Amino acid sequence: MKGRLFVISAPSGAGKTTLLKRVMAELPGLAFSVSHTTRQPRPGEKDGIDYHFISHDGFRRMIAAGEFLEFAEVHDNFYGTNRQSVMAQAKGGSDVILDIDVQGAEIIRNERIISAAHIFIAPPGLEELERRLRGRGTEDDSTVTLRMKNAEQEMTAASEYQYLMVNDDLGSAVNTLKSIIIAERAAAHRHPDGRGIELGLHL
Ligand code: ADP
Ligand code: 5GP
Repeated sequence: MKGRLFVISAPSGAGKTTLLKRVMAELPGLAFSVSHTTRQPRPGEKDGIDYHFISHDGFRRMIAAGEFLEFAEVHDNFYGTNRQSVMAQAKGGSDVILDIDVQGAEIIRNERIISAAHIFIAPPGLEELERRLRGRGTEDDSTVTLRMKNAEQEMTAASEYQYLMVNDDLGSAVNTLKSIIIAERAAAHRHPDGRGIELGLHL
């Protein structure tokens, strides 16, 4: 495997998607892992680009076939990362962005993939988080309430991550995330052709 994995989590509404789109447009060599989900598409979301939108039956079949590197139930929907497509992206030399929740990140952490870096993006505060979630206008009231309730739980997992950053000013957050990725690319202990292979810890 040539590319690294960047596992990125945040409470819903923290601005992760906005940040990732900016960073991916500005930094070459990054590929986005398109997850499978049973959630309904939001207006503007495209199948195969934002997610692979599938039925519950389809999702169950993929679980049974062992096709997921990780999967989890998040906010009453299922989400999963396809093992084969991540491997193909990384083998092709791209660094792969996994936009996954705290449960999925824990599964990846337990796999002990040496070339994976874990980044948690926090909002400036819960009030601002709710403002952003409502401001996005894509969720109804009960979904916002559920996502806010889950946010408090997700924030407690932040200390498990190697990098913590706050998305307050968007421009500064873009710079911080880019800097983390650039530094990780130079980190000798995570070098794809380095010690990881010798230790047999590679994917
Ligand atoms: P997530 O992917 O984490 O659920 P989004 O990227 O969809 O969040 O962002 C949620 C809302 O917050 C969007 O309307 C987005 O435009 C807005 N937003 C994102 N980052 C910031 C920021 N730094 N300051 C203010 N608003 C932001
Ligand atoms: P949303 O519905 O807002 O797109 O995403 C909800 C949550 O699901 C976010 O925390 C997002 O990171 C997470 N998520 C998206 N894809 C995956 C995945 O493949 N696996 C896991 N575990 N979580 C995912």
